[in-house]
Amino acid sequence: MPKIDLHCHSNCSDGALPPAEVATRAAARGCEVWALTDHDDVRGLAEARVAAESAGMRFVPGVEISVSWDRITVHIVGLNIDPENAVLLAGLAYVRSGRVRRAEAMGEDLARVGIQGAFAGALARADNKEMVGRTHFARFLVENGHVKDVKTAFKKYLVKGKPGYVPHQWAEMSDAIAWIRAAGGQAVLAHPGRYEIGKARMLDLIAHFKAAGGEALEVVTSNHTAEHVSQFARMSVEHGLTASCGSDFHSPLDGWCDLGSLPDLPANVTPIWHNWPEC
Ligand code: AMP
Ligand code: MN
Ligand code: MN
Ligand code: MN
Repeated sequence: MPKIDLHCHSNCSDGALPPAEVATRAAARGCEVWALTDHDDVRGLAEARVAAESAGMRFVPGVEISVSWDRITVHIVGLNIDPENAVLLAGLAYVRSGRVRRAEAMGEDLARVGIQGAFAGALARADNKEMVGRTHFARFLVENGHVKDVKTAFKKYLVKGKPGYVPHQWAEMSDAIAWIRAAGGQAVLAHPGRYEIGKARMLDLIAHFKAAGGEALEVVTSNHTAEHVSQFARMSVEHGLTASCGSDFHSPLDGWCDLGSLPDLPANVTPIWHNWPEC
């Protein structure tokens, strides 16, 4: 099986490195098939393709779309998308459009608990201003000594119920999947083990995802335990979905899994790449 990594981020969203550097790092770490999947934006894909192909990898253009479903945020990865498709581009522009306003509200919330300058600090750390998000706030909070690391920044300030958390309405799941399909891509339910929902709601989520045209579960990813891997492998088989894998790499520094350093998919699943040429 070639070494495959189908989920990671560049500084076009909340990753630390430019697309070409993510590509070079993926190749150096042994990836043979690689996708860049920035949140809600495809502007890094052209640069990523050139760097990936010159490093000898097969490049898969991707995106990770933020979705609101049943009061939680869910991420849908799109793979093999046409980055110039007008339907997808319009959808992504719509998803990005509320981010700066949300970030302003987060800054106001943090000011109320005595943390000044968070909006400006987060915006300064976002290379793509339209994509300012919680990771940029986390980096601001760390670099200004409010918390010791990114993980603590989320736990103390940036998750539901904490002072810097601002609820936000993202895309509808059916719309996000329709945009991916309009662009010729396949939709993957990203990191299902990270949603804090019980078994019944997970089954409901998977049923909605499949009914809307979703094709794969991300079975192997950063933060998935061995138990998650076997659980979601079994669910992918039971629900007639294929299986994907990706590191969700963001930065060499922040503790996410590194590019290409994932276990293989379990043998009982059908990999999403089963019918891709050269895989
Ligand atoms: P946003 O789209 O602005 O809400 O930011 C979501 C991003 O925050 C995710 O894609 C992750 O990169 C990051 N994130 C979410 N939860 C955590 C966490 N507990 N620890 C570290 N990073 C997180
Ligand atoms: Mn992220
Ligand atoms: Mn995600
Ligand atoms: Mn991701």
